[in-house]
Amino acid sequence: MTIALPKLPYEQDALEPHVSARTLSFHYGKHHRGYVDKLNKLIDGTSYESLSLEDIIATARQNGDIDILNNASQVWNHTFLWASMAPSGATQPNGQIKEMIDEAFGDLERFRQSFRKAALSHFGSGWIWLVQDGTSLRIITTGNADSPVGTLLTPLMTLDVWEHAYYLDYQNNRADYTDSFLEQLINWDFVAANIVNVAKHRVA
Ligand code: FE
Repeated sequence: MTIALPKLPYEQDALEPHVSARTLSFHYGKHHRGYVDKLNKLIDGTSYESLSLEDIIATARQNGDIDILNNASQVWNHTFLWASMAPSGATQPNGQIKEMIDEAFGDLERFRQSFRKAALSHFGSGWIWLVQDGTSLRIITTGNADSPVGTLLTPLMTLDVWEHAYYLDYQNNRADYTDSFLEQLINWDFVAANIVNVAKHRVA
């Protein structure tokens, strides 16, 4: 099976002015495509060829096949990144996701502060994630290509903090890029749809 580059879920100028068409043309058209092409070369003629992308990630992690793991993760992470952003501007968290944000962080503003702090204190390239951990929410960061896929954490949305994600629009200003994402771009409908309903455990 060849891993395909998923279609961008909106036009390349749909996130302007926060993420420019020029950035998306490189980030999707060159970087994301590059990871797909590299992955397909690496798995060609191997037992990975018959696996889904998620299974490639899990198996490569288990086998210590770092090149395959890195490229497969980057394919998955970027697809998840595009879906984490709303083409018509940020939606608002409502219902269950709003309750979970309030419970975990206090309110939306304090969630933004925690996410911003995680993005700014993450050294070098990587990803900032909102994840579900049991019945609660957490913010985690992963370095380089790593991601929570295949772990016990459920990714709900992500922000790419590799410089290729923001350099053309914000140069080295990760803070403004992160604020645009938090205030103008998050697709809360997508976040809400990723929640896995887990029965709340009660201690007798
Ligand atoms: Fe990227």
